[in-house]
Amino acid sequence: IMAGLGLLALIVATIVGHILSGKAMVPLKAAYEKQRQFAADASHELRTPLAVVMASADLLQNDPSIKSPFLKQVIEDVRDEVKKMTKLVGDLLVVARSDNKALKLKPSKFDFGAVVAQTARLMAPLAEQKKITLVADRLPKAIIHADEQKIRQLVLILVDNAVKYTPEGGQVTVEFRKAEKGKVSLAVADTGIGISPEDQEKVFDRFYRVDKARSREMGGNGLGLAIAQEIVNLHQGDIRIESELGKGTTFIVTLKTKVKGKTKPLNMI
Ligand code: ADP
Repeated sequence: IMAGLGLLALIVATIVGHILSGKAMVPLKAAYEKQRQFAADASHELRTPLAVVMASADLLQNDPSIKSPFLKQVIEDVRDEVKKMTKLVGDLLVVARSDNKALKLKPSKFDFGAVVAQTARLMAPLAEQKKITLVADRLPKAIIHADEQKIRQLVLILVDNAVKYTPEGGQVTVEFRKAEKGKVSLAVADTGIGISPEDQEKVFDRFYRVDKARSREMGGNGLGLAIAQEIVNLHQGDIRIESELGKGTTFIVTLKTKVKGKTKPLNMI
């Protein structure tokens, strides 16, 4: 009887717990929504003053009456920080926008291979600076129906990371992988520092950085992969990681060649 009563108590407690947590979910969701709206508004409002500061710093930089090397350096530092902040604010706006304006797809038909090669090439100067071999010229033609601008952003995030987290003399390879019919698979592989299995689960979280100091030094804010994941989800695609610490990392993105007209934006909460 005692065991039966215990079991009954457990069942009742579980049911009550479920009901309570169900009720608690409503205000919790509203609170998240408020927070998200606040982040969206704050980042939107910060854009204009940042643009003003940047324009002012540009003005100072070009002012011939400023001759002191110290002041010149100060102005340069201000510009660097404002640039970083502008990027952060822009990224924040993408992940926080509650009206999902930034997250709606504008699909069109384009050559995925050409877009990937072009985008990867944007990183060539940075790769060269670090003596990294950037291989992105073996991409065949692949016509897909997707949001070209967002696909460019996605490729840029992955190639930028690959270059950022690969030490001097390494290699970054951007290529297609074999995929099922009706799909394309893109691999961005590097010979860099790698990501541990525990961190592989977390790197898509907003603001998550394995090594905060290193990431900040590289100009990172921990939002890149969250945005990448969002773009992939919007396209009903898939993104995964293959990595070994100290050896390198490969991000593999698989997309349908034709995205469906109606897409449900991922709930960023
Ligand atoms: P960040 O702006 O810090 O680069 P991301 O969201 O793009 O932010 O990436 C999150 C974290 O994942 C990075 O801080 C880094 O620790 C790790 N990471 C991302 N890409 C790579 C890579 N190719 N190799 C090793 N670590 C990576």
